[in-house]
Amino acid sequence: MPDILSDDVQTRLSSVLARIRAKEADAARAAGSVRLIAVSKTFGVDEIRPVIAAGQRRFGENRVQEAQAKWPLLRQECADLELHLIGPLQSNKAKEAVALFDAIHTVDRDKIAGALAGEIEKQGRAPKLFVQVNTGLEPQKAGIAPREAAEFVERCRAVHGLAIDGLMCIPPAGEASGPHFALLAKMAAEIGVAELSMGMSGDFETAIAFGATYVRVGGAIFGSRPPIASAVAPDEPGEQAV
Ligand SMILES: *Cc1c(COP(=O)(O)O)cnc(C)c1O
Repeated sequence: MPDILSDDVQTRLSSVLARIRAKEADAARAAGSVRLIAVSKTFGVDEIRPVIAAGQRRFGENRVQEAQAKWPLLRQECADLELHLIGPLQSNKAKEAVALFDAIHTVDRDKIAGALAGEIEKQGRAPKLFVQVNTGLEPQKAGIAPREAAEFVERCRAVHGLAIDGLMCIPPAGEASGPHFALLAKMAAEIGVAELSMGMSGDFETAIAFGATYVRVGGAIFGSRPPIASAVAPDEPGEQAV
């Protein structure tokens, strides 16, 4: 793991926030309409603390087990943290996910929707929910196909009784993101959901231009991550290549 000076991480956070505010203005978006999720996957509590100390409160993790090992402690130290699950969810982890997360960005099939609905009712706790759309129709990537998304959201509402807040996508690596963001924004308008979770370190400004309300930024804040294989053993099948 690289040795990251907290000064650097705070400077990088300020710079990302400044770029978000500048792009909001540039794209004639209301100030503060884009919310930053600092993606802390693979980084430990010692690397996350300086980002909390710099004022960031909203974080994203892609594995339930990894998040369970880090965030209960950090939440004891800082009460008003908001935690987002941005990685694929297995239905046997729905209980843990509903208990820990304030938002889940990766609802993409009936089995997950049903499991979440059961836990939300049981626990009396309702995370914000996003449906993940596989805009690039990539076989290795999670998410529902664009042409099935409207019906799926309708089933989430009518069959599972879930409130769906928005849509999320991860455009294919090596392709221009703009057309994927444009598609997701169009679908959200048609389906009638307000939130758009899109944009990462390399393309969050493009995402803001296309209407992102949440951007998910890791590397530009925390520095580069070690390769996945050496950082954390994959503990959940269905891990997606990003
Ligand atoms: C890792 C990850 C991000 C952040 O990616 P960076 O390129 O480090 O900003 C965003 N979204 C998802 C779903 C991720 O898994």
